[in-house]
Amino acid sequence: MTVTYQNPDTHGYYGAFGGAFIPEMLHRNVAELQSKYLKIMADPAFRRDQDALLRDYVGRPTPLFHALRLSEKHGTRIFLKREDLCHTGAHKINNTVGQILLAERLGRTRIIAETGAGQHGVATATVCALKGLECIVYMGEKDIERQAPNVARMRMLGAKVVPALSGSRTLKDATNEAIRDWINHPDDTHYIIGSVVGPHPYPDMVARFQSVISAEIRKQLLEKTGSELPTHIVACVGGGSNAAGAFYHFLDEPDVSIVAVEAAGHGVHSGMSAATTQLGKPGILHGSRSLLMQTADGQVIEPHSISAGLDYPGIGPMHANLFETGRGIFLSATDEEAIASAFELSRLEGIIPALETAHAFSALDGMRFKEDDCVVVCLSGRGDKDLATYMQYL
Ligand SMILES: *Cc1c(COP(=O)(O)O)cnc(C)c1O
Repeated sequence: MTVTYQNPDTHGYYGAFGGAFIPEMLHRNVAELQSKYLKIMADPAFRRDQDALLRDYVGRPTPLFHALRLSEKHGTRIFLKREDLCHTGAHKINNTVGQILLAERLGRTRIIAETGAGQHGVATATVCALKGLECIVYMGEKDIERQAPNVARMRMLGAKVVPALSGSRTLKDATNEAIRDWINHPDDTHYIIGSVVGPHPYPDMVARFQSVISAEIRKQLLEKTGSELPTHIVACVGGGSNAAGAFYHFLDEPDVSIVAVEAAGHGVHSGMSAATTQLGKPGILHGSRSLLMQTADGQVIEPHSISAGLDYPGIGPMHANLFETGRGIFLSATDEEAIASAFELSRLEGIIPALETAHAFSALDGMRFKEDDCVVVCLSGRGDKDLATYMQYL
């Protein structure tokens, strides 16, 4: 396979970023995934099962909506890719559907996952219920307190939610617990990672499962505008999975401007931020080499964002490469800007976005467009889960 912005090399490197940095005890599992994932994903029977679930269970294709009032505000054409209409309310289920089918093919009967806000935990618990598989979700003790409705959803779906009690008791600690579990149960367990992070092949595998987003956008744009290519594609980035999916089929189209939006929290230089490309240095976290917010001696810096889904100190290696090579434009939006954008989209288009997604809309305010530009924004999720936060601003 040729190495492009889309495809890593055989060791999982996108330029200087990626790879698989894992404990000895996980080599067998990760090597098995590396050797099998592309073959399994290319198998016509797998494709059939995946397509059927994406259509009948997730609700794909999701609409591409021409947002007229938002377009008018920015003096251009803006289309919204409606991942908020997926079952469970966000793009994450595109990946969990793919990985549960993969786990079945690998003969695994026990599924583990990590979650921060609980969205990936809910998407994982959902597909485990669908397939009747045991599901254990690791979640920081602090996040369990902050995200009670999602914890209740996971439990209702039959998952066991296990608190991570170490460190800051948030996402990165939950990830450490999940890795520990996998080391202890290598034979029957598959670990469903929720974003384009982790050791090779996870970043590529998750990007491929999410790439259905941009495959659909190309078809839908052709129908609506007569061209498959937008001038801009915009998405928010936590680990980077909705962005990877929205960018995927445009990465090697040089005329399409790729715009990634990170969470600036209280401001990039406030000490309370999650703008990884602005603040990060190369380092290794959770199995791959990428950009990482860290102190001079390599301690991970606690990130901050009002949106739990963007509150991660790293970024997937594909995105680190897009940043380093200049292929992607990386912008950021503060907590306050994201809240304002969430209210604006609600009132202009009648769509309440997730707080994560709202960051992508904030970035439009700092950009200049021509009248005949064609801008696609990935509307990664809906805002129901964020109502408690939004209520504080009503
Ligand atoms: C989890 C989440 C994100 C951030 O994760 P990515 O892997 O960067 O996509 C963004 N939007 C929504 C709605 C989410 O649930």
